[in-house]
Amino acid sequence: MNLSKIWLSSPHMGGNEIKYINTAFDENWIAPLGPNVNGFEQDLKDFIGNGKEVAALSSGTAAIHLALIQLGVGLGDEVVCQSFTFSASANPITYQGAKPVFIDSEKQTWNMCPIALKKAIETRIELGKKPKAIIVVHLYGMPALMDDIMELSTQYDIPVIEDAAEALGSTYKNQKCGTFSNFGILSFNGNKIITTSGGGALVCSSEETKKKAVFYATQSRDDAPHYQHSHIGYNYRLSNISAGIGRGQMEVLEEHIALRRKMHFFYKDLFASIEGIQVFEEPNADFYSNHWLSAIKVNPELTNGITREDLRLAFEKENIECRPLWKPMHMQPIFKDSPYYGGNVAESLFNEGLCLPSGSNLTDEDRNRISNVIKKIFN
Ligand SMILES: *Cc1c(COP(=O)(O)O)cnc(C)c1O
Repeated sequence: MNLSKIWLSSPHMGGNEIKYINTAFDENWIAPLGPNVNGFEQDLKDFIGNGKEVAALSSGTAAIHLALIQLGVGLGDEVVCQSFTFSASANPITYQGAKPVFIDSEKQTWNMCPIALKKAIETRIELGKKPKAIIVVHLYGMPALMDDIMELSTQYDIPVIEDAAEALGSTYKNQKCGTFSNFGILSFNGNKIITTSGGGALVCSSEETKKKAVFYATQSRDDAPHYQHSHIGYNYRLSNISAGIGRGQMEVLEEHIALRRKMHFFYKDLFASIEGIQVFEEPNADFYSNHWLSAIKVNPELTNGITREDLRLAFEKENIECRPLWKPMHMQPIFKDSPYYGGNVAESLFNEGLCLPSGSNLTDEDRNRISNVIKKIFN
């Protein structure tokens, strides 16, 4: 037996990516600027709508960093951040010498709990530490409770950064994730719904904030014939080669979303008659997830003692990659001293949850192998 590996989420090329790369070579645009960068930004802008501007950057992490800089986050400031996420959501807070304050999830969308958020804002204000920004995440493609979050943002006058790294194409009340607030961020890392091999974007509310993002991302060069700097700069712009991949990927984005959603419905069917396994899904018709990753929660009390780990190991034996849900930031060694508001929703998701193979490039044969593992374990 020498079964090929089934990945959680692997790159899936549409075919035209290489044409955009070849054009870049033909025209000698081998640089972190050029027609592919401009074209990719335009494609993203058209897709995301809502009058937003888009700056293509070297990563989603860089986009969060530049959003924090533009919001004036600095030394000693506090930034509220969803705890249940990938560390890249929170790390840029520390790049600015600021401190994260972590918030639990709610059970519907697994994203930032508005009740815990309100409690955190009020408590930090009482302590004389009004948060400078709120980072909310649309995890696994599921839109967060944006009405509630934006209402608190308005009430307390605290800007929001939407981490939509996993949610390109997801919508809440028919509006695209990443467009609800001052800044949204996207990622095109290798495992995301589209990839540029590595890359990201900052979704901005005006031409001016986009220009500023590009200014910071290109070493903050003042307008002068020589090299003059009145701000610290960064080297965060996207390569014109990577952007070429992005343009090809934008041609197949809708198709990829449909295929990821198909994987979700495949799992809904697969687990429909299995007690104790809950497939993560939209709470109601206001939410439309790209289902970047399909995920389940396993309740061993209802599965005859079969746990998340039992499932993960059974898949691993068949060379099928699965992964526990994100380990919350407030449980991470690096953030153990950060304030945390909420209960144990994120913690129990980490303990009971599993991400399943979700790629848009999975085949019927892959789906058969996945089904067989489940049939065997629950026979
Ligand atoms: C991937 C990801 C990021 C970071 O994006 P990069 O492009 O890898 O820097 C940030 N937040 C979340 C939730 C992510 O999944």
